[in-house]
Amino acid sequence: MPRARVHHRDADVIVIGAGAAGLAAANVLVESGLDVLVLEARNRIGGRIETAASPETGMPIELGAEFIHGTATPIRELAERYGLATIDVSGQRFEHTSRGLRVARDYSARLNRVLGRLDAHRSPDRSFADAMRANRGSIRAADRSLATRFVEGFDAADATQVSERWLAVAGWPGRDMRESRIGRMLDGYGALMRALARPLGALVRLGAGVSEIRWRPGRVEVAGAPARGRRRSWSARAVIVTVPLGVMQAAAGERGAIRFDPPAPALTRSLSSGIMGPVRRLTLRFAEPFWLEPAFARRLGAPPLERMTFLQSRRPLAFRVWWTTYPVYAPMLVAWSGGSRAGLLSGRPACELEQLAIDSLASMFRMTPARLATRLVRCYQHDWVADPFSRGAYSYARVGGARMSERLAQPVARTIWYAGEAADTIASTGTVHGAIASGQRAAREIIELIHS
Ligand SMILES: Cc1cc2nc3c(=O)[nH]c(=O)nc-3n(C[C@H](O)[C@H](O)[C@H](O)COP(=O)(O)OP(=O)(O)OC[C@H]3O[C@@H](n4cnc5c(N)ncnc54)[C@H](O)[C@@H]3O)c2cc1C
Repeated sequence: MPRARVHHRDADVIVIGAGAAGLAAANVLVESGLDVLVLEARNRIGGRIETAASPETGMPIELGAEFIHGTATPIRELAERYGLATIDVSGQRFEHTSRGLRVARDYSARLNRVLGRLDAHRSPDRSFADAMRANRGSIRAADRSLATRFVEGFDAADATQVSERWLAVAGWPGRDMRESRIGRMLDGYGALMRALARPLGALVRLGAGVSEIRWRPGRVEVAGAPARGRRRSWSARAVIVTVPLGVMQAAAGERGAIRFDPPAPALTRSLSSGIMGPVRRLTLRFAEPFWLEPAFARRLGAPPLERMTFLQSRRPLAFRVWWTTYPVYAPMLVAWSGGSRAGLLSGRPACELEQLAIDSLASMFRMTPARLATRLVRCYQHDWVADPFSRGAYSYARVGGARMSERLAQPVARTIWYAGEAADTIASTGTVHGAIASGQRAAREIIELIHS
């Protein structure tokens, strides 16, 4: 009698990527008793979360994600589970105008007035820039400009490309006070990633970049990128791919790119609804938090800066958005640029960007760049656009692509799931909690399928 063919499998489910989505997905799968393997291209976990240690200040220094945006239930639940403290950021927002620094009191109200006008059902869809142009007569120029800076800075989106319909739903916290709340993990986001990786242990394979997924319904063969002439492959019942949208869009053969055999045209179409937005952030660590001295604010003719959270400039500086570590006091300031301006900064040498950040801050603080530079101890940064395993900071939907996330979240033949911030269906694209929620959702769908 012929013997039944036994299909060997390395795992029930393979998860590609050990960022927030991949680690969250793997935990849910392992807790349900499934065999899991997590394949990560880099030699570290966390993906777009990378927390550098600063023993000198005792503060975490984020190179990627830093804030908890809004209620962010998936994060708050995990923080409680792992005993990680979170802290709310409520202080004063400042703005820099040609007249100096002042408290920006009406910021949210003005923003809500403009973004509240966006139409989630508009047909045909149009870009945010076109929506602003059409509303020229009814929205003040200063408010349109504030909203454009927000869309570029917060959503990392090019105003001429981002979908109005998508922005109306997913691109801003809205009028809900809880959703406009901002917080941080006290020990940095890295602590959350370590807590998620701990129960997985050796199931997470680092330096295991994937370059090909051969599949048929109910079976996948995942092949690693060739390393030292060798090529490994692993098999499973299903795969959750959590690599960033920009990496999924990379041409075959490029570092990080994954080839599907046979192709998955529905997934490829959904991927084309999104764009990976660029961001450049630098953390400047100074010898002292000199801006907190009362005499410093007095010299600027500004109110005391001790409760300053964000500082935004209306002037065309390279870095127009800054923030402090408030409510914790530390000698650090973060420079931020997102959207089309940040795209222009990508690929530039680190020292050039450091100088641009110093020039921007010096202009806001009415100091010479040389004098400001003498107070600087160290600058921390990472080029997420040039990094082959991220290829940008986070995703947004292009005109006509408002349903990007729901589409990306649709599994292919109940075998290939795509998860990660771009596929989040809780209107939190581009965030850590959106990534976590999307990984957990994909994992639960697979568990249901396997156990049904
Ligand atoms: C500068 C910056 C600031 C941000 N600020 C915030 C913030 O304040 N708040 C917030 O909520 N969000 C923020 N974000 C967004 C947030 O970091 C992301 O939404 C989230 O971390 C994405 O998680 P993910 O699991 O979807 O993707 P990732 O974290 O990118 O994980 C994907 C993983 O896949 C791996 N990978 C890639 N290619 C391959 C391959 N071929 N084979 C195997 N593995 C591969 C990558 O190395 C990576 O580890 C920020 C992002 C950046 C870059």
